[in-house]
Amino acid sequence: MVYSHTQISRYLRCPRSYRYRYLDGWREKETRASLLFGRAFEKALAAFFSGEDSAAALFKEWGAYRDAQIEYSHGDDWERMARQGVQLLERLAQHDRIRIRQPLRNMQVKLVRSVSGGSEFVAYVDAIGTLDGKRCLLEWKTTTARYPEEPDGLLALDPQLICYSWTSGIPDVAVMAFVRKRVPEIQYLKATISDEQRQEYSRLVETTISQIEAGQFLAHSGIRFPQNGCVSCAQLGLCLGNQQLIDAKLIRTPGASDLDWLDQLDD
Ligand code: SF4
Repeated sequence: MVYSHTQISRYLRCPRSYRYRYLDGWREKETRASLLFGRAFEKALAAFFSGEDSAAALFKEWGAYRDAQIEYSHGDDWERMARQGVQLLERLAQHDRIRIRQPLRNMQVKLVRSVSGGSEFVAYVDAIGTLDGKRCLLEWKTTTARYPEEPDGLLALDPQLICYSWTSGIPDVAVMAFVRKRVPEIQYLKATISDEQRQEYSRLVETTISQIEAGQFLAHSGIRFPQNGCVSCAQLGLCLGNQQLIDAKLIRTPGASDLDWLDQLDD
């Protein structure tokens, strides 16, 4: 078996959701504009760090959705998102704080670790480079809301960053949050992951995999107000037996267990 951070975090959020997605093959339909824009922007960043025309790359990728029936939120539309993307790329060039040597080799870096039972844990890290001259693991996010910066040290608790630090062995990590707001902004957020955190994540992975392989898929419905995880769960229709919701949100694929490589690109 091959596992990823997305699989582990989905199981920890709700084991029933994991079963629906990875065993039964229910995938979320990819119609959210924010997700599709995040992927297009990632291609533009790859062009940027390769010295190519990043705005042209953005228009090429995002242009594919110009007339598509996709779901916009936060008052977005195609033009507005394209404009914000170009502004963010311009700011990135003005700030000039990131260096990635040999971008073909150091972007979308595949990291593999062996885990017990002959399985593998695979992660794709956005980039390994330097921020303000210091070597670190770099992660991009597109979002409509600023990341919280208080209290100090909060980012070091981010499980995805801990995961990437564990798979790479690199303690210094950074998130570049590309914030799509009225005046677009880039947040450069740094954190250092401790050896203890990496060891703890390793134990978390092993424990979770043993529960998955033991076939434990009890529902963890999060229906307490105000943070009701079921409301934002794409598989809510399956749990409620609501065919309309299933048809609106999901598509069933045979084989099921591919990995969600391009996870969490958007808010
Ligand atoms: S709707 Fe709730 S209980 Fe059902 S899979 Fe999603 S998170 Fe789990």
